[in-house]
Amino acid sequence: MRVLLIEDEPILGQAIRDHVVAAGHAVDWMQRLEDAEIALRSVDYALVLLDLHLPDGSGLDLLRAIRRRKDLRPVIILTARDQIRDRIDGLNAGADDYLVKPFDLDELTARIGAVARRAAANPNPLLTLGTLEIDQAARLVRRGGQRIELTQREWAVLDQLLRRPGAIVSRERIEEELYAFGSEIESNAVEVYVSRLRKKLGKDLIATQRGIGYRLIMEAA
Ligand code: CA
Repeated sequence: MRVLLIEDEPILGQAIRDHVVAAGHAVDWMQRLEDAEIALRSVDYALVLLDLHLPDGSGLDLLRAIRRRKDLRPVIILTARDQIRDRIDGLNAGADDYLVKPFDLDELTARIGAVARRAAANPNPLLTLGTLEIDQAARLVRRGGQRIELTQREWAVLDQLLRRPGAIVSRERIEEELYAFGSEIESNAVEVYVSRLRKKLGKDLIATQRGIGYRLIMEAA
């Protein structure tokens, strides 16, 4: 999976990155909040490792901001031994887990696996969106008991948006998902599938964030 590491201590950051890469994950390492924000908005990371004391601000503020925009990607905070308050604040701000420095790197990779599994398990795959009932496990969409047929690719686009309800999903991320079907795609493929989804599910369901991507409107449909 792709992991975002936000840590400004060079030796620790490098050790974490090397270890997590050796465990089979791709790691993007950022040392500043500003860079981390940009990365978070453009890449669909499966998990975030977040140091709280960064040169340009507090990791807690970043965590609160991403949860505020309903970005539910799992976050593990990395805190100093004497900062118990940090751990409490971190968990209250929506962190999924924490590790106290210095931590064992094998424990870190074990936690990454455990937190990601928990996040992916999605105990309730049923979602109601306005008048739409969506079963993410069965890949079914219904309105008033009536099934709405989606093609595999339409579902793939919708699924990307459903994974981060209300958050902006980049056009590139959706495009990557379409590429996963193996065949070549047209340069306007994302627009085409979004427009088909709007036709089938409701024209106000998906908002376009010009130049950035798309966002599911939770109150629509
Ligand atoms: Ca730090």
